[in-house]
Amino acid sequence: MNDSHRTIREQLGAYLLGGLTAPEETALGAHLDGCPDCRAELDDLRPVADALAGVAPQDLAHAPAPPPFLIERVLDEVRRTPRPAAAPPRRRAPLLVAAAVVVAALVGGGVGFIAGTGPDAPREAVAVRTLAGGVQASATVIPHTWGIEITLDADGFTAGTPYRVVVIDDAGRTVGAGEFLGTGADPMVCNLNTSVLRAQAAGFDVLDPDGRVVVHGEL
Ligand SMILES: [Zn+2]
Repeated sequence: MNDSHRTIREQLGAYLLGGLTAPEETALGAHLDGCPDCRAELDDLRPVADALAGVAPQDLAHAPAPPPFLIERVLDEVRRTPRPAAAPPRRRAPLLVAAAVVVAALVGGGVGFIAGTGPDAPREAVAVRTLAGGVQASATVIPHTWGIEITLDADGFTAGTPYRVVVIDDAGRTVGAGEFLGTGADPMVCNLNTSVLRAQAAGFDVLDPDGRVVVHGEL
């Protein structure tokens, strides 16, 4: 990777979060026009920035704190990154650290998935079927020693309506996994926890207030 690629890649996160100056954006745009590799990198980062854009400040207040090892790792990375002699004002590193910490908080136990390594087992993609018009949903599952954690990434649930999530075990029992309010067209990412262990979990249902299945996931 030559120096200009390196500089550009360091700026991609800040760019997606709207943190670059106008001249920096112009330079970055010019480089991206001619560099498919950096464009691909930008595409990889985009979902993270989109997830951040969907975060309401009041949700952050209740987000679980990221584990200390992750904060340390992010700070180490920042400390070890060599700075060019004539560096522009350092305003983007804190922004990216903040972004990394927010992402870590959002994914909770799924830190390993974003960071590539970690104490948790990997996230597992779940086959999801939606049974209500307008609802779009995808889900992943993390097996824990205490049960499973389901992350539901969705939009189209009726705004303000409470939905209940149950996990179905292999004996056909349904066990509560929590509730959430629909957010309409706004995308939501919702973590749901249940005591059913991965080995016994057969699927999960999202139920509307009338008990109708709106989304079904196969586990
Ligand atoms: Zn490049």
